[in-house]
Amino acid sequence: MNNIDLINKRRIFGIISHPDAGKTTLTEKLLLHGGAIREAGTVRARKNSKFAKSDWMEIEKQRGISVTSSVMQFEYNDKVISIMDTPGHNDFGEDTYRILTSVDSAVMVIDAAKGIEAQTKKLFQVCSMRGIPIFTFINKLDREAKDPLESMQELEDVLGLPSVAVTWPIGCGKEFEGIYDRLKNTVYLFKKKEQIYLGEEKVQSSKLDGVLSQSNLENLRYAMELLDGAGNEFDLELIKQGKLSPVFFGSALADFGVTEFLEHFLQISPPPSKRKTTTGYVEPTDEEFTGFIFKIQANMDPNHRDRLAFLRICSGTFVRGMNVTLSRTGKQMKLSQSTHLMANERETVDTAYAGDVIGIYDSGNFQIGDTLTNSKEKVFFEPLPTFPPELFCRVSAKNSLKGKNFQKGVEQLAQEGAIQVYKNEYNEVVLGAVGVLQFEVFEYRLVNEYNTDIRMESIDFSVARWVKTDDPESLKKYQNSRCMLVYDHYERPVLLFTNAYALKSFQERNEDIILVEALDVI
Ligand code: GDP
Repeated sequence: MNNIDLINKRRIFGIISHPDAGKTTLTEKLLLHGGAIREAGTVRARKNSKFAKSDWMEIEKQRGISVTSSVMQFEYNDKVISIMDTPGHNDFGEDTYRILTSVDSAVMVIDAAKGIEAQTKKLFQVCSMRGIPIFTFINKLDREAKDPLESMQELEDVLGLPSVAVTWPIGCGKEFEGIYDRLKNTVYLFKKKEQIYLGEEKVQSSKLDGVLSQSNLENLRYAMELLDGAGNEFDLELIKQGKLSPVFFGSALADFGVTEFLEHFLQISPPPSKRKTTTGYVEPTDEEFTGFIFKIQANMDPNHRDRLAFLRICSGTFVRGMNVTLSRTGKQMKLSQSTHLMANERETVDTAYAGDVIGIYDSGNFQIGDTLTNSKEKVFFEPLPTFPPELFCRVSAKNSLKGKNFQKGVEQLAQEGAIQVYKNEYNEVVLGAVGVLQFEVFEYRLVNEYNTDIRMESIDFSVARWVKTDDPESLKKYQNSRCMLVYDHYERPVLLFTNAYALKSFQERNEDIILVEALDVI
């Protein structure tokens, strides 16, 4: 098989959802269909922290959640699929956002009764910014649910995302009878586990008479008339640009509607495509090997201090033992310890292609966003975006004799992208995070890995804005109880505001100062 075929077989996607919508259950079912795990429950067991190998941190065990995101690869039909797992808990962090910069598409899981919730909205925005295709899976139809037409409308109203239904639910809760596949003109029955091909007559077919309850049949015919007449057309181009979301309905728990979803998804979703560098694009079919690191996970094995860097391959072929250059430093290195990440095990990987994600053992060489290549020319993939933190705290070592350890810990955790680090004008360390858990992880790791007790004091700021200015010193005069000047990791000035109101009034008073959200900083 040549490289083009191998690349076209590959899919990388992330699942985004609000906690409890059913992400874990859906992941579990998808892996099961692909035969990647032998028995159901592996993903859940990990979530419930009985899964020793990925319980790399005590904090995960204590909280019973997955702090870090990982990658699970499975095969289905002729496709090689990588699911990027994103922490589903409320206390998600930047990691969750960053993972989404390395996927080619996203699956948005929505609870059919609750609709679009806060975390889904945030994660959606990150995907939408990148223009990647977003597939919607409306879950839990075996329970009482919102009217499906209302759910579709919500996508448009709340997210501004036009949608097109690929499957459609027939009833819900106790009355749930199945789904209708609009592309295949087929009804799949929930309880009977049968399928009925309707042909050109579609839902008007008499084959449904007496099979579905009268009210479900009427509702189905009505909804289809509406969607066929006034709904969005199935437009593959718009889907690929992320401007139209194909919508599926089902029950992850009952494993119903999942196969139909998976099969359409694999047909429609894009294989790995070109990726932007600072000087042009890298095509997946380019001969030279290139990849970038989007995540660094520390101390997965408590017996070793090594870290695991997650590399997305963008072009060429990875061969274990190959020599590559780390573009940032120009340093040459041999990639001999590499690993595939499966749901329940890790195995050494010898060859991998564009569209694969591999783990590389790292003894401290890598930073988030680093490019690795065997090209003779320098290649730099565009830097990963920084995400606007919403929580801040001031932090220092309890014992000043531990100052060196403290600095080292802060430096390394910032490099890993575990937390954002700022300094204020008194050279105090200020941490910024997207979720509270990032602070807990920071504290835990400083105590356990850097042997340093710390003092943390949360400070009452919630909005960060980068300032475009040639004279950062001049910003000092704006500091007051509602506005604080800090400098980020790259010495760029950032103003912290207590809340959106303080930001707004600052802007009104200082129209000439250009403030940008971290997302735009790049
Ligand atoms: P996550 O937080 O998004 O990963 O959600 P989980 O997959 O852990 O699901 C949260 C809860 O909803 C669990 O109790 C699941 O058993 C339940 N659940 C998930 N999918 C379905 C579904 O399709 N139907 C029903 N009735 N319950 C579901």
